[in-house]
Amino acid sequence: MADKKVRVRFAPSPTGGLHLGGVRTVLFNYLFAKQHGGDFVLRIEDTDQNRYVEGAEQYILDCLAWCGLIPDESPVVGGPFAPYRQSERKPLYREYAEKLVMEGHAYYAFDTPEELDAKRKEVPNFQYGHAHRDELRNSLSLSQHEVDALLDAHTPHVIRIKMPTDETISFNDMIRGHVSFETNQVDDKVLLKADGMPTYHLAVVVDDYLMKISHAFRGEEWLPSAPVHLLLWDYLGWKADMPQWAHLPLILKPDGHGKLSKRDGARLGFPVYAMSWFDVKTDELTQGFRELGFLPEAFLNLLAMLGWNDGGDQEIFTLDALVEKFSIERVSKAGAKFDYEKAKWYNAEWIKKTSAEGLKDKVITVFADKGVAVNDDQYLLTVIDAVKERCILLPDFYQQASFFFGVPKEYDINSVKPKWNEAKDAFFNLLIDRYAASHTWDALELENIFKALMEEKALKAGDVMLPFRIMLVGGKFGPHVFDIAAMLGKEETIGRIEKALVVFNG
Ligand code: GLU
Repeated sequence: MADKKVRVRFAPSPTGGLHLGGVRTVLFNYLFAKQHGGDFVLRIEDTDQNRYVEGAEQYILDCLAWCGLIPDESPVVGGPFAPYRQSERKPLYREYAEKLVMEGHAYYAFDTPEELDAKRKEVPNFQYGHAHRDELRNSLSLSQHEVDALLDAHTPHVIRIKMPTDETISFNDMIRGHVSFETNQVDDKVLLKADGMPTYHLAVVVDDYLMKISHAFRGEEWLPSAPVHLLLWDYLGWKADMPQWAHLPLILKPDGHGKLSKRDGARLGFPVYAMSWFDVKTDELTQGFRELGFLPEAFLNLLAMLGWNDGGDQEIFTLDALVEKFSIERVSKAGAKFDYEKAKWYNAEWIKKTSAEGLKDKVITVFADKGVAVNDDQYLLTVIDAVKERCILLPDFYQQASFFFGVPKEYDINSVKPKWNEAKDAFFNLLIDRYAASHTWDALELENIFKALMEEKALKAGDVMLPFRIMLVGGKFGPHVFDIAAMLGKEETIGRIEKALVVFNG
């Protein structure tokens, strides 16, 4: 076990959008694998045809690509253990289910849905397990002769695990330590369905074995399934090869009461999925972090901190730093509360940290979405540097910087008009002349000219600075106003003052 190559897997079912908890699962698996020079496998667990959703697999691949968590083996790139889609592996599971039946660890169950419904009505909190399996139609309750006859007649049937009675089974979770279960509490789960498809329980064990998975980190919601999996590893004779498990803590609602669901996102106005997901069945759009303007680096950083920290105060980590510092033992057992304000803080920090060049393409997209084509790359880079400190989400670049690419469409006239007078009008007309005559056009020179004129005309900064800003920008925001004028250039600045004067005097 000690020298076994580290191989981890992310094993999503393609049933819809990817919750941030799902991406955190990918991230923790990925970090662990990369830290140990191991492999990261993507396996699509699509055995439940009723829950299969068209497009969900592509969506998962796109999410991983957006985050930069690229699998070493997957249905797309293949690998030594292909195929990586369970539906394509269907024929290989039956042999294991039959072996379990032969060895007395599983059995055929012939009950029809109607028979099971009747039983559920008769027995409150009915579980198909040790207490009632003798009362049902299966290869444990029927004679060999009856079973053979049913099988010969191709009677639809499933294969169920036979949970032992009165036993305690346990394992060592890398986060939770010793975890144990009473077998009587667990029902005889179906392993192979009537259509020959395995259920998740059988497929996950068989594939983790065949794909030589060494460590499996998954959400806490899978902990109740662990006893079934433990028994299967044992019964199939593979116990020595069982991966080390870690069940990751839940991501909780902001108030800490219960698991964060996509409904909470809609209710509280924040994204819960990695990327937007449109559910064709319900016509419902669930917002994604990507579409709201998160950088993938920030998204990964904030996910890493949901349940993990490096023991110090550091909060900003690159993916490489996480690969180096991550340790599964430092993941907390307790659920991690999701705080959207904090999530935005991470993004703002990452926008600040990313070079203008690194943000360029994303900002071009933000502008293109608003119908603004950005043609001058060099100018755009200067603009990005001028405003990125003020941007929290990527669309903020439009709010903060659209005036660099066009005259303001509107002016915050209420902030100017009540105190507008002839003296101010005269000031700005003179300013036009002084600026027109200036041979240098940089922020310092423009500020000096402005201030000299203010002094001459006995005006205070409070009288003319804000109107000047509104002339150039349209509102009370943006970087240092003389930096803006310097970047806009002489002609444009003067043009904007002239245009605004018409409005302010009107
Ligand atoms: N297919 C399961 C899911 O949808 C995988 C659980 C596991 O990792 O064992 O999350």
